[in-house]
Amino acid sequence: MTEPVNFQAVLDEINAEIRPLLGAGGTVASYIPALARVPAAQFGIALRTCAGAEACAGDAATPFSIQSVSKLFTLTLAMQHLGERLWERIGREPSGNPFNSLVQLESEQGKPRNPFINAGAIAVADRLVSLGDACADILALMSSLAGEPIAFDEEVAASEAETGFRNIALANFMKSFGKLDNDVGPVLGMYFHQCSIRMSCVQLARAAGFLCRDGAHPVDGLAAVTTERQTRRINSLMLTCGTYDAAGDVAFSIGLPCKSGVGGGIVAVVPDRLTLAVWSPALDTTGNSLLGMKALELFVGKTGLSVF
Ligand code: GLU
Repeated sequence: MTEPVNFQAVLDEINAEIRPLLGAGGTVASYIPALARVPAAQFGIALRTCAGAEACAGDAATPFSIQSVSKLFTLTLAMQHLGERLWERIGREPSGNPFNSLVQLESEQGKPRNPFINAGAIAVADRLVSLGDACADILALMSSLAGEPIAFDEEVAASEAETGFRNIALANFMKSFGKLDNDVGPVLGMYFHQCSIRMSCVQLARAAGFLCRDGAHPVDGLAAVTTERQTRRINSLMLTCGTYDAAGDVAFSIGLPCKSGVGGGIVAVVPDRLTLAVWSPALDTTGNSLLGMKALELFVGKTGLSVF
């Protein structure tokens, strides 16, 4: 595609193509009431270029539960503080098992395969709890990156705790291997709260901005959020492990590092160009937003942008 790309026109086209498909497929996450009652027929898309230009379309300003997209930002926070030491407790391999699976934890002595499955995110939460007030720290990071206050949804956090039997089991299992330093209570408290963060596509595209700028802060360009090397590593983990069991298909059909969540949000990165956030609550059978993935496919088709 010849420069310059009119990104606003691209997002308007994608919105026009996606809207007729709203409500036609997929299923909204139903394991807690606050997610089950989100109307499925919504779609938002937003991007921010490395230079700070923004474009958005559809329901891009509507806040939603970012759920597992939060794992991207807790990983960032842990890498900032722990550097290479983080990898003593967490691997970097795609799991090939469901995101909340217990099976590999036994053979791997309580060391999760990667930071984007639930066990891995709980291990990251443990490290953050050791460092201080993890809940306050993640909100401070998100608010700084988004350039405006970001908050938890306490109803969602409470429901996550009430229904989180599998996550409670994962935390106890890791604890039994001596792989959590803290009591499971505060670790899970952090994990359930990070899942409950509410943000819009516009806020998420902005907050993830450091990932397309070699780690430079998206709002305050002077401060580094992560080093260039850490930023490359986060992007490679997103590509290989960021979309549940669909990471291979996503790399094949979209070709961008992505992190998704069961709230229907997906963050995608085009290194050195832009970050993109899409949201549509109805999920496909892999737990990724059905129309969010469709929108990303349309975006790469229209712009030719890819890491490959
Ligand atoms: N709160 C969900 C869980 O831990 C997060 C799921 C997700 O977005 O992957 O089960």
